[in-house]
Amino acid sequence: MPLARVCVFCGSSPGADPAFAAAARALGGLLAARGLELLYGAGNVGLMGILADAALAGGGRVTGVIPRFLVDKELAHLGLTRLEIVDSMHERKARLADLADAFVALPGGMGTLEEVCEVTTWAQLALHRKPIGLLDVSGYYQPLLAFLDRAVAERLLRPEHHGLLLVESEPARLLDRFAERGPEPAEKWIDRT
Ligand code: AMP
Repeated sequence: MPLARVCVFCGSSPGADPAFAAAARALGGLLAARGLELLYGAGNVGLMGILADAALAGGGRVTGVIPRFLVDKELAHLGLTRLEIVDSMHERKARLADLADAFVALPGGMGTLEEVCEVTTWAQLALHRKPIGLLDVSGYYQPLLAFLDRAVAERLLRPEHHGLLLVESEPARLLDRFAERGPEPAEKWIDRT
């Protein structure tokens, strides 16, 4: 399936390392340059705002989906191509997941982690086959990957499901990998018998 829309999860804070903002800017610009629509949580704060501004500055289309109660807190970005206001966090995630052809996580906190883990659990249940990538800026995601290695070693996670998360430090390389088709998903359950 050709990529048209990429959903990006990222911090609503800018983070301490300036490399995070640089990566958000680079990814936003690259999506626009490749004619890919950016989907995200519609915030105008932190890495979210930097990402959206970069995509818009590059002439890209940006769709944001935000629950009503966060419109003021996350300062909903009012300059987007399309802004959808929904009733709940669950609706936001479902809408973004439906619209997206692929998912990327930039550095972020609990919200980002929750969002990328959720779409990965849906992939391991074969509810979708959309690629998912971690943009591992400054090694930010290495501790999470070490945790997932432990989960595999403990036979709580299949290696194929760990492999659902594509990991790259360069946005262009990550988008290139999305074009490569992966293997059929493995059955979720381990040691069932
Ligand atoms: P954070 O990484 O914690 O800065 O959060 C990044 C984004 O994730 C923000 O737009 C949060 O509103 C959003 N977020 C946090 N938790 C959830 C959730 N359970 N469902 C949907 N979005 C969430």
